[in-house]
Amino acid sequence: MPAALVTGSSRGIGRAIATRFARDGYDVAVNYHTSEAAAADVARTVRDLGQEATVVGADVSDPDAAARLVAETRTAFGGLDHVVNNAGIDQHVYTEALSPADFDHVMDVNVNGAFNVTKAALTHLRDAADDPSVTNVSSILAYTGAAIECHYASSKGALVSLTKSHASDFAPDVRVNAVAPGHVETDMTADRSDAERRQARERIPLGRFGRPDEIADAVAYLRDATFVTGETLNVNGGELMR
Ligand code: NAP
Repeated sequence: MPAALVTGSSRGIGRAIATRFARDGYDVAVNYHTSEAAAADVARTVRDLGQEATVVGADVSDPDAAARLVAETRTAFGGLDHVVNNAGIDQHVYTEALSPADFDHVMDVNVNGAFNVTKAALTHLRDAADDPSVTNVSSILAYTGAAIECHYASSKGALVSLTKSHASDFAPDVRVNAVAPGHVETDMTADRSDAERRQARERIPLGRFGRPDEIADAVAYLRDATFVTGETLNVNGGELMR
């Protein structure tokens, strides 16, 4: 069976990606940082779909933990075919109030985390039999920026560059792409006020927020798109064309 590692798959978009990969016949390593019980629940769903699952707690911003995450995945499944760097954090703070430590923390998880996991996985991906790839989860804010989350938007812009750089570095052995979601209904966006939600919806031509499974569809497309590398696929209900 092909095997996939999905970082930050205890909740939200990562959970939907892990489930989608299981439905498509992949064994899945479910990674969490703090939500152990939720990760165990995702693993149960993967097994219910007939695939193997392993649950690995690891903070992807820590290079040693990321290396252990990849090693445990490899041990569980005997190989690794796809990595999805989905783990991410957000924080709403104006620049004047944003500490350098908080700026670094968001970059550490969102950018260094993807770098750490990809670097650790590269040898195993190169050993994979059939069209291995990495998918990074960026954001629409990579292109638009964001007033009260400059560190988050910057981290997502960096992921677009990391994607192109790694696609060049690893070709022709390993494809590397990214998906850039618009507003998706998860815990990350649950704290918006009704007024903020209304304004956000009005900016989206399709008139609604995205669902995690719609981002998983895009990740599955990139996983299977054998002639696509270095691309970032925008999935945002048309918001970016305005
Ligand atoms: P979420 O519901 O807050 O889930 C975040 C996931 O990341 C959780 O599984 C969490 O694990 C994990 N995580 C956080 N820090 C981690 C760390 N240091 N090491 C390992 N895992 C860590 O967020 P989401 O909305 O699903 O977002 C998933 C990805 O999509 C993120 O990269 C986010 O930036 C991106 N995105 C989201 C939206 C949106 O509108 N929701 C839009 C664009 C892009 P624990 O719970 O175990 O701590």
